[in-house]
Amino acid sequence: MKPAVVNAWSRMVLMPAEEGTGNYRWTSTVVLECTCPPMEVRFGKGQTPGGDFHYRAAREGMSAGVATAETAVLEVDLQDLQDLQDLQDLRDVRDVREPRDFPRSSSGSEPAPELIRKPAAAFRNLRPELPFVAARELHALDVSLEGLRCTMAPGTVLVSDGLVHSFEVAPSEERRDSANVRVFLEHPVSPTTTEKSGLPHLVIFEFSREPVRKVFRGKSVVIDPGHGGRDKGFRGPVNLLEKNVAMVVSKNLYSLLSLAGAHPHLTRRDDVAVEESARVRAAISRGADCLIKIHTSGDDDPDRRAYFVRYPPRSEASRALALEIRNALLERMGIDAALVEWHEPDGVSLPVVQVEPLCLTHYSDEANFRAPLFQKRLAQSIFNGLMRWYLEKG
Ligand SMILES: [Zn+2]
Repeated sequence: MKPAVVNAWSRMVLMPAEEGTGNYRWTSTVVLECTCPPMEVRFGKGQTPGGDFHYRAAREGMSAGVATAETAVLEVDLQDLQDLQDLQDLRDVRDVREPRDFPRSSSGSEPAPELIRKPAAAFRNLRPELPFVAARELHALDVSLEGLRCTMAPGTVLVSDGLVHSFEVAPSEERRDSANVRVFLEHPVSPTTTEKSGLPHLVIFEFSREPVRKVFRGKSVVIDPGHGGRDKGFRGPVNLLEKNVAMVVSKNLYSLLSLAGAHPHLTRRDDVAVEESARVRAAISRGADCLIKIHTSGDDDPDRRAYFVRYPPRSEASRALALEIRNALLERMGIDAALVEWHEPDGVSLPVVQVEPLCLTHYSDEANFRAPLFQKRLAQSIFNGLMRWYLEKG
């Protein structure tokens, strides 16, 4: 068997830190499966993620581009470019286009998009206006595995767990017997590296999720699973009920937030009816930072589906939160939810959003939801949106 990296994957790991203390370590790992040990694991710029900011822009149906250094690259299609002309901020960029020169996750079959280059700082102010997921900072960690070829299919693996954004494994351009790994991180954190012999031989990069905890520590989030009791909400073509779907997503979100050190609260834990006003009161009386209402959408036509993130009008904070959750759903799941104003609940002083990330009356959405991984990813997406919101508001 040739010395090679043959596979790679990532997951979150929760481990007891010391026996019997109740303390635990929460990490994200990136694991490379190799046919034999590498001769050397070499970190670019030491074992720390690069100081350069990396920006990423994506929209539905289009792969993400990641750019390095002082100029960020924004990848847009021509239609978007048309839309962008209206934006004051981007008025000067149309004359600066360059060919693509960065890794892409697509198969390359679609036409190469136009690229826009602009000083990275210029992207900071663009967030809500752009028609795609806003460009933002990622930190890149470069590692090379010496003595191993890369026989994996090329491409970016999206992780999006709040810390590891994505990673790529590719053959080295300079040395044939070397594989390059690039991990994109939401927070700059250095990994510890371990190896586990066997077949496959595992090279494991372990990243502490402490930066995620730092964002959430002590934060108060009230999660409201919609409906309950005799109020069943929408019903799927087979048998899923909205009230139960909402509960599953809510409990997954609750677990993630608890792990991250936040103080989440559920407005109902069981299948019981709860007055709408009582749900809001629960959030206000706890002095929560925000209220996240979990529902599904539905339609009389079983072939139609649409997704929504709703927020009350005239609430900038609600809108900002809704936008982050919408973007996170798009990035993690490819769910393109419409951001819409809605007029309930009235007179609520705290940021509130209603997330409808699933169209329960559509048969494939109902089927997808039965997969535990899908349920977890929905919750993870909302969690990621919340994290961006907290980071943005400082
Ligand atoms: Zn509902």
